Amino acid sequence: MLNSSILISLAQNVALLLSLTYLYGLVLHNPRLARFNRSHLLEGLTFGLFGVLAVMTAIEVYPGFFLDARAIVVVVTGAFSGPVAALLASGMIALYRMMLGGGGVLSGVVAVMGAAALGTAVYYYRQRYGNRNERAVFLIVGGIAAINALVWPWAIGGSVGRQFAYKAALPMLVLVPAGIYFLRLLLSYRLRQLQMEQALRDSEERYRTVIAAMSEGFIYRSVEDGTVSCNASAETILGLSAAQIQHWIDENWRGLREDGTEFAAPDRPAAVALRTGQPQLNVTMGIQHPEKGLIWLLVNSSPLFRAGSSQPYAVMSTFTDITERRQAQTELLRERDTLRTLIDNIPDYIFIKDAQGRFVVSNAAHNQIAGVQRMDELVGKTAFDVFPPHLAPQFNEDDQMVLQGQALVNIERTSIDLQGKPCFVLTTKVPLRDAAGQVVGLVGISRNITHRKKLEEQTLQLAAERQRAAVLHRFITDISHDFRTPLSILSTSTELLRKHTDPDKREKHLRRIEEQITRVTTLLDAVVEMADLERNVVVRHDDPINLQPLLTETIKDCEPLAKNKGVKLLWQQTSMPIMVNADAHHIRRAVHNLLENAIQYNAAGGWVMISTQNLATHLVIEIRDSGIGMTEAEQQHIFEHFYRADEARSMDTGGTGLGLPIARKIVEAHGGTISVESQPGQGSTFTVTLPLSDERVAEAV
Ligand code: ADP
Repeated sequence: MLNSSILISLAQNVALLLSLTYLYGLVLHNPRLARFNRSHLLEGLTFGLFGVLAVMTAIEVYPGFFLDARAIVVVVTGAFSGPVAALLASGMIALYRMMLGGGGVLSGVVAVMGAAALGTAVYYYRQRYGNRNERAVFLIVGGIAAINALVWPWAIGGSVGRQFAYKAALPMLVLVPAGIYFLRLLLSYRLRQLQMEQALRDSEERYRTVIAAMSEGFIYRSVEDGTVSCNASAETILGLSAAQIQHWIDENWRGLREDGTEFAAPDRPAAVALRTGQPQLNVTMGIQHPEKGLIWLLVNSSPLFRAGSSQPYAVMSTFTDITERRQAQTELLRERDTLRTLIDNIPDYIFIKDAQGRFVVSNAAHNQIAGVQRMDELVGKTAFDVFPPHLAPQFNEDDQMVLQGQALVNIERTSIDLQGKPCFVLTTKVPLRDAAGQVVGLVGISRNITHRKKLEEQTLQLAAERQRAAVLHRFITDISHDFRTPLSILSTSTELLRKHTDPDKREKHLRRIEEQITRVTTLLDAVVEMADLERNVVVRHDDPINLQPLLTETIKDCEPLAKNKGVKLLWQQTSMPIMVNADAHHIRRAVHNLLENAIQYNAAGGWVMISTQNLATHLVIEIRDSGIGMTEAEQQHIFEHFYRADEARSMDTGGTGLGLPIARKIVEAHGGTISVESQPGQGSTFTVTLPLSDERVAEAV
């Protein structure tokens, strides 16, 4: 009798526990109820209610002593919902038990409280260790809970209590652990299920939000039920409402392909994706927008399959409006074509290379010199691949410099022209930088300047030729003037010679003829010497010579003239050798000219002083005289060909007017200088500087 009623009661309790799990789920995951479930009060209340129900369906084993599932409910309450819920539930059950009265009240209430304490202990265990050893923990706690339910009636329930404990021992020890274990399973399962449902709802919500917020248009079409859904961007892009889109999909609207031909409905991406089961990616399609007219879309369509089915049940399409991008692209292409035509028609060689010096762009002229028909044949190649070995290394060297960031502007290089012949080009290469300023290549432009260079050279030659002709003309004019005087004297004297028979007079004229012949010869020698010096061919000054003896000899040469003139020569000689890289003959000639002038343009009783001075790198020769001196204006011209301050005087002294120009030419050909300081009536000082030979300089240092 007892056993069958226990089974009935058990069945009732199982039903109760099942409904408890359902209600528990409701409480936990109903947002409206959650508000009342602070500190798990509502859970406690639910569990308490079921505990009370369990007590209601209890079997009264002995009067006042009940066998029921309350221990199961209370332990599980504590384990799943914590101390507050356990306290509430156990309180409710205890209260109800008290209402029932009888001898087992005290032991019943204490046992319920013990079960609540046990459940709470499991709660904290789970908080700390999670699911570790969960099954074992629940089984052990179940065993303890059964003992707890028996030990109290046995201890404080008097003799009836003890009898109850004996009688209920077996069913309790079996049912309570089994019940707790079973209820834990149900609740855990329910909790997991609820969590999964929640996760699913959350993820669906997330996707929904993403799709709604997407700037891309989205249309989902189910083949099974024909439903169509879309996002707000789809409405905006297509200019249609969601309802219109539903209708519009099936309409036979016109689609255009990129080349302007008809995009037939069965060929469009969604239809193809559905038919073939293959996703259709990046398909460009033109459609008519109700307000904007023709717009262009970039469409992606993917079929959706159910597990195990090869037939798609729906298709999902996303699309963006690329009308503006396409317009910009077309614009860009047009601009590129214009630029292309422009650079192809420029005769200059234009090219772009990458950071490795490989051609990326090349114009028609450059293609031609590189020996290719079209630019594609050149792209990816380097200078070494296309230009002859005598040109490529130089081009490459320039490229490397530019790729390091240094622009080359208008540098002259040799290259080949359109006919493959060598030519001169003016090249500019500048680095090509990306947005971050990194050099990613170079732009080059070269212009064939061979023709221009030839013209320039011709112009220069012509100018030099003209200058030479002008100089020659002036020279000849000057010479003819200087030759005319002695020639006319010659002519007159010859005439008179013919007329006179008087031997004295004839002798006088013959002397004059001889004088003039000497003069013409001197003049001719000077002119030839000057011409040689002008051509810079005679002066050689590689060898160091000592100027001391040279100067001494030159002074000696001039002594007869000085004596004749009554002029004293003063030579401040030093003992040190004066080493100069010089042509001895010419230096002697220059100093001689200066000395001769200093004597000639002097008066009887006057003096000429020669001195030398060694500076760090130069030798200074000074020729000072006490002669007639010169005005400022005369000094300006004395180094010009055939210039004489006083022509008659110069002629008298046999001067050629080339003495100083020759001296200056010689000194300058040695890298030296010549200058004059003078005042009329105060004498003149001619200063010559000559670079000392390296040996001499080394000594001085
Ligand atoms: P020239 O054969 O006439 O001496 P130079 O070329 O040697 O030709 O000198 C040019 C002119 O410079 C001379 O005619 C003279 O007028 C002037 N001149 C040159 N040296 C002196 C000097 N030491 N004192 C004054 N006049 C000088």
